[in-house]
Amino acid sequence: MRIKALLEKYNLRPSKGLGQNFLYDEGIARKVIAAADLTPADHVIEVGPGLGILTRPLAEQAGRVVAIELDRCLVEILRETLDPLSNIEIVEGDVLRTDLVELVPPGVPYKVIANLPYYITSAAIRHFLEAPRRPQLLVIMVQREVAERILAAPGEMSLLSVGVQFYGQPRLVERVSRGAFYPSPQVDSAVLRIDVYDHPPVWGDNPARFFQVVRAGFSQRRKQLRNSLSAGLGLSAQEITNALRAHNLDEKLRPQTLSIEDWGKICDAIPISR
Ligand code: SAM
Repeated sequence: MRIKALLEKYNLRPSKGLGQNFLYDEGIARKVIAAADLTPADHVIEVGPGLGILTRPLAEQAGRVVAIELDRCLVEILRETLDPLSNIEIVEGDVLRTDLVELVPPGVPYKVIANLPYYITSAAIRHFLEAPRRPQLLVIMVQREVAERILAAPGEMSLLSVGVQFYGQPRLVERVSRGAFYPSPQVDSAVLRIDVYDHPPVWGDNPARFFQVVRAGFSQRRKQLRNSLSAGLGLSAQEITNALRAHNLDEKLRPQTLSIEDWGKICDAIPISR
């Protein structure tokens, strides 16, 4: 098998700390790439190319691939093994510290493809969704439980699902068993595609305000909205109740039951805190 052979050849041990669970099922790799609907016009950013199972086929279908890898040993191997492909740029570094503006030419749309290292899953998703230049879409492999949280519907919402569904529409591409990786992680995975809105449809002009209210709402999950919003926004419980009632919103709701649209209405209702 190619992954094990490469690790042996270069005398490498996968690093747990860097979330190195290498995908070796090429059928799954093909599905990840197919989900991105690539054309030769596409610019792709790949996070954590590892030993390159996704990188090479990406470069065969997209116009240009920039792959950001933190592990210097892997960067050297990738530069050696992917050498003849001229449309790949391997960047050594931490994706969370990478300025996306420098990676893709101005005005050019881009797509993100990644089998994400599990320890930065949420941070990496936020890094792209909250960037001044957001991608058109992301196709990402994440832990199955994280995928379920991202895809959650009202009743099961969390800061993570609101954080993603505010910016785009996630859908499940494929469930992936832990056996598709070397070494096998403790849990199964899933591939998600997130289609990013050009402009978020609810409170898209002021995400900072939207998330100020959402964070306040989730700060005390078990409490009713009236109390958590009051504590988080520095307004009295009575002010919150009055504002919500004036917009026909129930102050006793709990944050996990609310959709993005509901949060938008709550933001409309609540006066900016003093
Ligand atoms: N894409 C490869 C695959 O599918 O087999 C590797 C995926 S592995 C789950 C995650 C990769 O991300 C590893 O190669 C790891 O070294 C790299 N990585 C870990 N932390 C990173 C970071 N902060 N920035 C960029 N790459 C990182």
